[in-house]
Amino acid sequence: MKFLIMGPPGAGKGTQAKILAEKFNLEHLSTGDILRSEINNKSDVGLKAQKFMDAGNLVPDDVLLSMMKNKLTQLRNSGIILDGFPRTVPQAEGLSKIFSSLESKIDYVINIEVEENALINRLIERAKKSGRADDTKDVIIKRQHVYKELTEPLIEYYSSEIIQVDGDGTIEEVTHRILKRII
Ligand code: AMP
Repeated sequence: MKFLIMGPPGAGKGTQAKILAEKFNLEHLSTGDILRSEINNKSDVGLKAQKFMDAGNLVPDDVLLSMMKNKLTQLRNSGIILDGFPRTVPQAEGLSKIFSSLESKIDYVINIEVEENALINRLIERAKKSGRADDTKDVIIKRQHVYKELTEPLIEYYSSEIIQVDGDGTIEEVTHRILKRII
């Protein structure tokens, strides 16, 4: 099965993606984690991505699409959960083409909703522990703006199939809400 999990930065999509990956035996593809590892390895992709990530901007669509085309082709026969991709409408259109060329499709699109002030507070708390270069207050606010402008339109793009889940509450409560909708 192929899952796609979306939500603003700080909504807990990474945490929920990990739980779902374990439960349904899925490969967890977090584009943020993949890009951070490319940066650590000083690969070509990492070198291209770093300045965008540090500033809280999105890495260009063509970089993401070619990176994800490779990963999805390698994993064509596996269950997958996509976390952090697509993040723009052109990425979603590109993803749809990749899946058609692989004769595959997305089975579930999940969106975790959390109110904006709660998100900023959560991210400031996470920043105290994460050591991530993009977890400073200014960059956190910038990432919320980028989300609203470029990623939120995906809710409309996937409107015919999207599963909306309230992300307020404990991790277990949110997982329970997701599971109720998909099994
Ligand atoms: P995340 O760990 O999902 O919060 O992602 C961290 C950063 O990686 C984002 O702020 C972007 O700079 C970059 N990134 C991750 N996924 C994407 C994507 N699908 N498109 C563009 N940039 C991305």
